[in-house]
Amino acid sequence: ATAGLVIGLSACSQERDAADEPTGDAAVEDTLIGIAMPTKSLERWNRDGAHLEELLKEAGYETTLQYADNKVDQQITQLENMINQGAKVLVIASIDGTALAPVLEQAATNDVKVIAYDRLINDTDNVDYYATFDNEKVGTLQGEFIVDALDLENAAGPFNLEPFAGSPDDNNAKFFFSGAWDILLPYVEAGKLVVPSGKSPASNDDWASIGIQGWGSDTAQAEMENRLNSFYGAGQKVNVVLSPNDSLALGIAQALEGAGYAPGPDYPVLTGQDADQANVLNMLAGKQSMSVWKDTRALGDQVAKMIQQIIDGETVDVNDEETYDNGNKVVPTYLLDPQVVTPDTVESVLVESGFYEASDLGL
Ligand code: BGC
Repeated sequence: ATAGLVIGLSACSQERDAADEPTGDAAVEDTLIGIAMPTKSLERWNRDGAHLEELLKEAGYETTLQYADNKVDQQITQLENMINQGAKVLVIASIDGTALAPVLEQAATNDVKVIAYDRLINDTDNVDYYATFDNEKVGTLQGEFIVDALDLENAAGPFNLEPFAGSPDDNNAKFFFSGAWDILLPYVEAGKLVVPSGKSPASNDDWASIGIQGWGSDTAQAEMENRLNSFYGAGQKVNVVLSPNDSLALGIAQALEGAGYAPGPDYPVLTGQDADQANVLNMLAGKQSMSVWKDTRALGDQVAKMIQQIIDGETVDVNDEETYDNGNKVVPTYLLDPQVVTPDTVESVLVESGFYEASDLGL
C-alpha cells in the first residue's frame, strides 16, 4: 500500500510541476477561464476552487472564480458575467444541474466551451466535457464498508439502519445512493438490516424521498433527531447510518450525541464522503467510521489539463463515454477514483499525501 501511495504521489507532483511551468503559450495569455463553484460553506469547494485557480494562474491564464452561496439564480448571473467578460472556457460545479440550459445556450452562441465539474449538467447539448470522481463507486465503497463493519455475511443481526441520501437537485446524489443501495438492499430484503423509521426506499429510484435538500448539516441533524425521537423506543438503538457525505454525517453525529450515543463499541457505524477536516477530527474521536476521500487536487489537475487541450485544439482526455447521459447526450467524461479513509488510515492516506498537515488534525 505504501509503495502505491508513493507512486501515486510522484505521478501527481510531476503533473503539478508541469503545470507550474508557465507555458509561454501565446494562446494562453489573456485567455479568461471562468470557474463557478456552488458555495463556500462546504470545505471541499473552497479547496477545489483555490487549487484550480492556482494551477490555471501558474499556467498563465486569467481566471475568475465565483461562489454562489448555493443560490441557483446567483450562479446563473455569475455565468452570464463570465460569458460577457469573454471567458473561453467555463468550469461549472452546478447547484441545480437542470437549471443552466438557457445560460449555456448563451455560452454556445459565444463559442465558450463548458466543463461540468464534479456534478453533471443536465438537459442541454451545451456541455462539452465532464470531470468527476466515480460517483457510483463512492456509494459502493460506503455500502461495502457497512457490510464489512457489521460482518453482515456472518452475523445474525438484525441491525437497525437509517439511510440518508443527498440533495435531490444534485445529479450526483442518485449515483451515490444507487452504489450503496445495490449493496445494502438485499440485506434489508433478507431482514438482516431493518429500518425502524420506515425510511427505506423500495428501489434505487425512490432515493429522493430520503434526500436532504441542499446537503445541509442542520437539516440532516433535524431529520436524524426526528427519526430517533419518533421511531426508537426505550432501549432501542440505531446500529448503522448510511450518510452519503460528510456534511450530513456531521449533523447526524450531532443528533447521535444529543441522544446520548457516546464513542465506543456501541456507537453506530456512520459513513461519509469528502474527508472534510471536521469529519476527520470526528473520525479520530470515534464519532464517524469512515469517509470516502476524493483528492480534489487530482480533479483540479485533470481539469487544468483538459482546459489546456481545449485551448490547444487537441483531443481532450476522457475515459468514460457511456455512463453520463444528461438527457440530451452522453457527455464525454474523465472519471477519477475515490478512496476509503478510516480512523486507522488518516495518517497514511491524508497526511502522507499532503492533503492535511498533521497539525491540522491535532496529530
Ligand atoms: C459532491 C460531494 C459533496 C456534495 C455536497 C456532491 O455533488 O460530489 O463531494 O459532498 O456535493 O456539496
